[in-house]
Amino acid sequence: MARTKIVATIGPGSAHPETIRRMLAAGMTVARINFSHGDHAWHTQTVNMLRDVAREEGKVLAILGDLQGPKLRLGHVKAGGMMLSPGDEVVLTPHPGQPAMIHLPHPDLIAAAVPGSRLVIGDGEVEFTVAEKRDDTLRCLVTVGGLLESRKGVNAPGVDLAISSITDKDRVDLELISELDFDYVALSFVRSGHDIQELRELMAHKPRQIPVIAKIEKSEAIHNLIAIRDAADGLMVARGDLGIEMPPQELPLLQKHIITVCNEAGKPVITATQMLQSMVDHPRPTRAEASDVANAILDGTDAVMLSGETATGNYPIESVLMMQQIAEITERAFPYDVWRDRRVKKMGHDSVTEAIGEASCTIAEDISAAAIVSTTQSGYTAQQIARYRPRIPILAVSPLPYTQRKLALVWGVETLLVSDFADTDTMIDETARVLRERGFEAGQRVVITAGIPFRQSGLTNLLRVYTI
Ligand code: PEP
Repeated sequence: MARTKIVATIGPGSAHPETIRRMLAAGMTVARINFSHGDHAWHTQTVNMLRDVAREEGKVLAILGDLQGPKLRLGHVKAGGMMLSPGDEVVLTPHPGQPAMIHLPHPDLIAAAVPGSRLVIGDGEVEFTVAEKRDDTLRCLVTVGGLLESRKGVNAPGVDLAISSITDKDRVDLELISELDFDYVALSFVRSGHDIQELRELMAHKPRQIPVIAKIEKSEAIHNLIAIRDAADGLMVARGDLGIEMPPQELPLLQKHIITVCNEAGKPVITATQMLQSMVDHPRPTRAEASDVANAILDGTDAVMLSGETATGNYPIESVLMMQQIAEITERAFPYDVWRDRRVKKMGHDSVTEAIGEASCTIAEDISAAAIVSTTQSGYTAQQIARYRPRIPILAVSPLPYTQRKLALVWGVETLLVSDFADTDTMIDETARVLRERGFEAGQRVVITAGIPFRQSGLTNLLRVYTI
């Protein structure tokens, strides 16, 4: 299997036990439930089914709940849509049922837009430029003509909306995500680190704090990227909306930048949207799509994501398999040596865990160890090892199933569940036992990291070379 992790969105095209079984076998490690679609009964039934199938197959599968966020949409447009040509004039109103006007049910957007603001409809099929604001309506000129249809998404690049990134619907969905104990929650249209804090505060009284992925899809998020990364547990390069909010020609370098800042902090990053888009309808991807997946991996992404390909597409299993095969082949040429040089050149670390993470890679390489073994409570040390992209396998050993699932998103980390341990000798014995079970042989050396006392996270302070 590839070291790159694969996130697959679950929808009507894939929410069947047999399909999930085969997607797991093909390499899916994270299942994404998109809260923009479906109702709570469907979400609950799907999560239960995913867990049942993963258990039956003996696979580790993380489940990520993706909150819709403040997605702006047009209201109702007359049946069959409206064909618009460049130069046409239209008036947008927050009030429904006004003949000769287009319903835009977002007074906040109308209030924040100014003459010259761009409104991009759908994937850019239609575009308006605001010419004039009159009371609570916007007079706009059509700059890109096309068919305008009901409920199409609306993006207003650069328009600063005074609304929270967490909607009432998100709050209700977050309750279900907590109740069902998802492994990750993703927040859409994040603009600042404060948005992440707000989400964490909503979970503060819950039994478990679910790790948060910030979706980077707004220009404000690019400006506040470091603060958002520091506040979140990982990032998603949400190229769908990001490619509308920002000029598409800027996307490739933005993607590389977002991936790099995550790598630097040892936080997982997902590259998302249209990776194998043509596989919605075809059993093979385009050449450009195959290259796109490979390049994201070479950039250092932890995970690659499938959206429509697995949610509604005709080839969900083939899409996962194709991604896994592209990853496996690309990883053969992964620039491990470049990453090692970068690692060796880096002087100074912010924490003992980071320093041990780096040292474990160097020692493992120097002595040709068979694996780097990280005994971990929160998964943090394993992430700090993975960020250096060692050629040598990384095994995270944990007594906590949710830590095991959390690491299903982190590049290169394989996980082993062990019984709880309270002292070093038991930890070594238990680790040696699972390594033997895993096919490691007597005489092979592994580099082990641990934190003592056990059962506390963020305390890694031991590095040991152990011969099985
Ligand atoms: C995106 O915009 O790329 C994305 C992943 O978000 P969503 O699928 O929720 O629109």
